[in-house]
Amino acid sequence: MELMPFTQARERAIARVVPICEVETIALTAALGRVLATSIIAPENVPNHDNTAMDGYAVRFQDLEKTSETTLRIVGVVQAGSRMDETLGAGEAVRILTGAPIPDGCDCIVIQENATRDGDLLHVPAGEVQNRWIRRAGLDITKGCEVFAKGHLLTPPDIGMIASLGHAQVQVVRRLRVAVVSTGNEVTAPGAALEAGQIYDSNRHSMMAVLHALGVDVVDLGIIRDDKTSIATALQKGADSADVVLTSGGVSEGDYDLVKDVINDIGTIDFWKVRMKPGKPQAHGTIGKAMFFGLPGNPVSVLATFLLLVRPALLVMMGCKPAPQKRMTLPYKGAPITKGHDRMEFARGTITFAGADTHVASTGSQNSGVLTSMAKANSFIVLDEAPCEIRDGDLVTVIPIEY
Ligand code: AMP
Ligand code: MG
Repeated sequence: MELMPFTQARERAIARVVPICEVETIALTAALGRVLATSIIAPENVPNHDNTAMDGYAVRFQDLEKTSETTLRIVGVVQAGSRMDETLGAGEAVRILTGAPIPDGCDCIVIQENATRDGDLLHVPAGEVQNRWIRRAGLDITKGCEVFAKGHLLTPPDIGMIASLGHAQVQVVRRLRVAVVSTGNEVTAPGAALEAGQIYDSNRHSMMAVLHALGVDVVDLGIIRDDKTSIATALQKGADSADVVLTSGGVSEGDYDLVKDVINDIGTIDFWKVRMKPGKPQAHGTIGKAMFFGLPGNPVSVLATFLLLVRPALLVMMGCKPAPQKRMTLPYKGAPITKGHDRMEFARGTITFAGADTHVASTGSQNSGVLTSMAKANSFIVLDEAPCEIRDGDLVTVIPIEY
């Protein structure tokens, strides 16, 4: 079978998924990382009244002498949370504190550092500016505008914005459910003693961690032996209980790589070989109504294929709009990297943020079993399909890693 180019595989992985449409209403306090099921329209202006950005005195600009000092009479005080009902008269000033509504008639805030108070009298030197320090109603959000579109994934400032509109609840897409399985006769759960030839199951933990970071409900189906019946039973159970089934291992071409065979029996495979490194063997398909992603067994390949191909697809299932992959161009620093093969390579890189000297370096050994290379990385350095070499100082394409 032909290897599918990475870019095509990514597009296909995204195009295959069907977004979840079930909606739930939840408390705003629980909404971080959730995806909006409806757009949010501002019911009011924020702020909903003109108010002062500074402590000082509210005055009428027309009362101020332009070239000499003006003396005004202080007729009251207005603090945040209260308001003054009367309109300010000629020659009058009001003591005002940050956040307080601007009294009618006022169009200038004289900050307290710029004026001298003497009892009820206020001396204002020349040089004030009309409208300065006044935060107008609607400065942040205008009544009636779309603040967030349907499909928006909520970040911390978004939660604050929605609170500022007065909403205590939001309508979001229900959480995505993903069932996770590790396969392999050698794979043992952390906590148990290792027998000869066995290794600990890092993949299921990496997969569950990246899923938790995405706000997904995880169904942990544990470790399955390399045996068709056990794999079929586990995957069917996953498909019956979740929207997505995610496996690690058993998708290559070895004698015990049985996951593909099982999917061919109980589901369908759309594509399974991608022209990328790490992560050539992987399987994308369906089991009944569930999506199936069979990731490779090597610990680096699991995370790389998850981040580069599966995560964007899951985000679309969660209700987000498909987003282009984020790429940047940076100078490469370090020993040359030579690539002889014709797959697109995603070398693990570390971006050092150093102003004009910002650059990317390799994290060291790029063996797909070296999970340390992934733990040190904050990015992938992209080496295009054609054989190539990158040297110190070359500009390279970099994909920042987002969890
Ligand atoms: P496979 O594709 O099943 O042949 O696995 C490829 C490599 O990844 C082998 O060296 C496996 O031992 C290793 N591997 C498979 N599953 C896991 C796992 N869950 N955790 C850590 N390493 C694994
Ligand atoms: Mg295996």
